Amino acid sequence: MEPTASLEKETLESEEAAEPPLLTFFSSSRSRAFLKQFYPKATLAEWNDWRWQLKNSITDVQSLSRLITLSPAECSVPDIHPRTLPLRITPYYASLLDRENPDHPLRRSVVPTSDEFVFSPGESRDPLCEDDHSPVPGLVHRYPDRVLFLVTGTCSTFCRYCTRSRMVGKSDNAANNPSRWSAAIDYIQAHPEVRDVLISGGDPLTLPGDALESIVKRLRRIRHVELIRIGTKMPVSLPQRITSSLVSMLKKYHPLWMSIHVTHPEELTPEFEAACARLADAGIPLGSQTVLLKGVNDSIVSLKNLMHGLIKFRVKPYYLYQCDPIPGSSHFRTPVSKGLEMIQGLRGHTSGYAVPTFAIDAPGGGGKIPLLPEYVIGRDEAGIILRNYEGKTFCYPDRQ
Ligand SMILES: *Cc1c(COP(=O)(O)O)cnc(C)c1O
Repeated sequence: MEPTASLEKETLESEEAAEPPLLTFFSSSRSRAFLKQFYPKATLAEWNDWRWQLKNSITDVQSLSRLITLSPAECSVPDIHPRTLPLRITPYYASLLDRENPDHPLRRSVVPTSDEFVFSPGESRDPLCEDDHSPVPGLVHRYPDRVLFLVTGTCSTFCRYCTRSRMVGKSDNAANNPSRWSAAIDYIQAHPEVRDVLISGGDPLTLPGDALESIVKRLRRIRHVELIRIGTKMPVSLPQRITSSLVSMLKKYHPLWMSIHVTHPEELTPEFEAACARLADAGIPLGSQTVLLKGVNDSIVSLKNLMHGLIKFRVKPYYLYQCDPIPGSSHFRTPVSKGLEMIQGLRGHTSGYAVPTFAIDAPGGGGKIPLLPEYVIGRDEAGIILRNYEGKTFCYPDRQ
């Protein structure tokens, strides 16, 4: 492999140009085999270049059928349908999909099926009523001291259960427009109660480094903004995006935290691990967010493996979400009792650091509401009666 020659041919932006190719760092043998089989003309250096990955993302069913054997339910999806989210998968993420099994968890999370056209009661385009809590386009101010700043409607890979499927992947998307960023930043500047800004989208790391830096830099100049957080799936869907230049840029704006969207233990690849190592080494505290999905990750074994893997990658499991009722999501939604069962199966049975908070983001815009299995059984004259992780009861001498 002769990476440097082909890298020079690329018209990389200045931020990325000095980036050395990351051959041993980012390319597992699985990636290399996939590249050879499906992109025989591409070099490993191209594969490791996030721009190549974005440019070569799979966006139609026909291209996808070249990589995996589509099932009838997967084939019957029209490429462009106004009510649904477009198809988009990076070649890297496609390399993680099982080619023959349509029930493969990662495949279910990104390959559209006819189930997305089955609409059920209680579903809504904007279940969390984010648009109603939006003082300026692209900014959601729901909680007293923090805001959600949607800086783009683009992702490298679209998750079929996306809570913002109403806005992502749409060309007329307000969030995609940089002039809207200024209005949002002006709002934050004018609201001293905002001490925490969560940059999300879409995926903020799809932006070129200089655009992202201009946003982060302007936020950092606002004195009352204590914390900047970035919500992204890039370390999972396109770990090659976590270049050393991106990380050196971000670390200038500490305290900056990152929440990584992770779904399944099969996403715990050497590439994802390398991306986490770079971020953690730059002092960026990492948290995870996982959506509980029927038939994808709704088993204690699967979630425990995922959480253990995250801890090893220095990612603290943060939230486990009940799936939001977006249109056509019933095939993904579990009963709430399933989430409680998952927490019951983790808490006490493994490191406390590995246990996320199970939450429902309340339809109607109530915000995230945490749920716990019943650990308080009742009270008697001696005190409060508690149940431990093994189901044994204990009394604490609590006086009221
Ligand atoms: C999730 C979310 C936040 C951040 O909530 P935390 O519990 O602090 O992580 C802020 N604003 C909105 C609108 C959100 O949905």
